[in-house]
Amino acid sequence: MIELKDVRKVFPARGQAGEVVAVDGVSLAVDRGEFAGVVGPSGSGKSTLVRLVNLLERPTSGSVTVDGQLLTELPDEQVRQARRSIGMVFQHFELLDSRTAAGNVEHPLELSGVGRAERRRRAGELLDLVGLGDRAGARPAQLSGGQKQRVAIARALAVRPTVLLCDEATSALDQASTTGVLELLRRVRDELGLTVLLITHEMSVVKAVCDSAVLLDRGRVVDGGRLADVLTRPGSPLGDALLPAPV
Ligand code: ATP
Ligand code: MG
Repeated sequence: MIELKDVRKVFPARGQAGEVVAVDGVSLAVDRGEFAGVVGPSGSGKSTLVRLVNLLERPTSGSVTVDGQLLTELPDEQVRQARRSIGMVFQHFELLDSRTAAGNVEHPLELSGVGRAERRRRAGELLDLVGLGDRAGARPAQLSGGQKQRVAIARALAVRPTVLLCDEATSALDQASTTGVLELLRRVRDELGLTVLLITHEMSVVKAVCDSAVLLDRGRVVDGGRLADVLTRPGSPLGDALLPAPV
């Protein structure tokens, strides 16, 4: 479960005077087990919003609650702890090139002090789950984009998170790999009961996997709801954006 209440994030403007309001009073609730999308144009605050959910960025104001824990009230040490139950997947995979697929999946387990035998076992299981059981010894350079993203998803799941954040997780992939990764995300949501927040600029991705979505514009939520509702609500900006452009 993810709940944001009136969250704002203001940055000092890069290299000049003044400030940038990246997220401007966003309230958002994602139920446990829900697959939610965040869409919006470049610069609308999508990446900042995901980073606020796991407190990689502290909000300037407002509150962030994940699984009933009010993260914005916690001291840094406890935030680090709570962040372990939040997995994150990125556009460019962010794998360690010098490590094998299994080594990458084991990495977060090493950081949380899990012993070697148990790490091996869990990495094997997770690579099986994402369909790469036979590529455990491959290095990222030997894997396709879709396979790298599968390794990144296995790594994100290693610490048994309850929430998975995906920032443009399919934007660097071709159509076939995108479909495969989205199917995998749906399956892990179904099998593990994860709450998923997926950021994308691709409407087709939202339509393929999300139960609900919000449309961000200049840091604000301008529309949102269950997909079935926004698609049938007359005049819904999100519904319109999700429909194929007229030819
Ligand atoms: P894109 O689709 O291009 O990834 P986005 O929707 O993810 O865009 P953000 O990266 O969240 O948008 O950026 C929102 C706004 O906040 C932009 O104007 C950006 O320049 C600004 N911003 C983001 N991070 C910082 C930072 N650390 N310092 C200053 N400004 C920032
Ligand atoms: Mg972004």
